[in-house]
Amino acid sequence: MQDRIFLSSPHMSDEGYEMQYVKEAFDTNWIAPLGENVNEFENELATKVGSKGAAALSSGTGAIHLALKAAGVDEGDIVFSSTLTFSATANPIIYQNAIPVFIDSDYETWNMSPKALEEAFEKYPDVKAVIVVHLYGLSADMDKIVELCKKHNVVLIEDAAESLGTYYKGKHTGTFGDYGVFSFNGNKIITTSGGGMLVSDNDERIAKARFWATQSRDQARHYQHSELGFNYRMSNVVAGIGRGQLKVLEDRVAKKNYVFNFYKRELGGLYGVEFMPSNEWNEPNYWLSSMTLYGKVRPIDVIDALEKENIESRLIWKPMHMQPYFEKYDFVGTDVSEKLFENGVCLPSDTKMTDADLERVIKIIKKLW
Ligand SMILES: *Cc1c(COP(=O)(O)O)cnc(C)c1O
Repeated sequence: MQDRIFLSSPHMSDEGYEMQYVKEAFDTNWIAPLGENVNEFENELATKVGSKGAAALSSGTGAIHLALKAAGVDEGDIVFSSTLTFSATANPIIYQNAIPVFIDSDYETWNMSPKALEEAFEKYPDVKAVIVVHLYGLSADMDKIVELCKKHNVVLIEDAAESLGTYYKGKHTGTFGDYGVFSFNGNKIITTSGGGMLVSDNDERIAKARFWATQSRDQARHYQHSELGFNYRMSNVVAGIGRGQLKVLEDRVAKKNYVFNFYKRELGGLYGVEFMPSNEWNEPNYWLSSMTLYGKVRPIDVIDALEKENIESRLIWKPMHMQPYFEKYDFVGTDVSEKLFENGVCLPSDTKMTDADLERVIKIIKKLW
């Protein structure tokens, strides 16, 4: 059996940057709790994306949770969320005892449909916040979404967990809304083994998020708490990995782009194949190369054929409004996200893949036609 090819696995720098920062943490015994790596990782990431402030947290999910809290979302509030996403986008809405309403995608972006969002605003005028996802590193149509949220005076949170390195009209995703969220989970474009970041231009809210993330300790000689707290802060060791990974982000984006164009060139002509959409305003990080199949060959045929040869691939996210846990909540839209789920497949997009690996993948797929 040949070596396994992964969908997207951790890829540390050849230069060993991550180890240098981790070693510094060890040498100074700043293993925990906070320390220079955490502060610098926040500064470096904020600078990279063009945001005023950032709070390093233990996960992207925790960052979404604190974004909702910072937005004032509380029990019984309505929150709109992209339906075509990973469950981590929607779970924090429930942590706050709020009520999700799921919004459909459009074919132009695969992301939140501005048209469906507009309909949702008409149906729920007292909505408290909107979470828009930038799926697989494609950006949503932010001009329209920002305009609608402004018009209705509603807080906008961007789940940019999959889109670090993605720009919309030259501006980094995660910086259009009131809050942006990044993830450094193991399969993301850069990873700290696990972690997340909340970004915002509102320094006061970022400071508040750090406060909540460290058990909401009041300024007092004894342990005093006037608010509910969370243990959501990133450790200084983990932040060291993040600082090193941030140095190679552009290399990772370039390689993901190469992988996507390789597949598109080799497979784009097969009957029924359509690759994820390109828009002139979108500069994606191509986190996962994805395509839809509208012919005889089904996504599961591709996944099974690759798995037989020890290659990992997977289906598109199953929309939240189709999930047993979330199906009791309302959904606004048509069948776009459902169709993308039925017909979509994510190809192995590991940045360590060689041309020979890519040839191996396309040969197996082409045999199915
Ligand atoms: C990975 C991911 C998250 C969650 O991030 P974690 O760091 O794993 O908690 C949230 N939303 C989307 C769209 C993701 O892909």
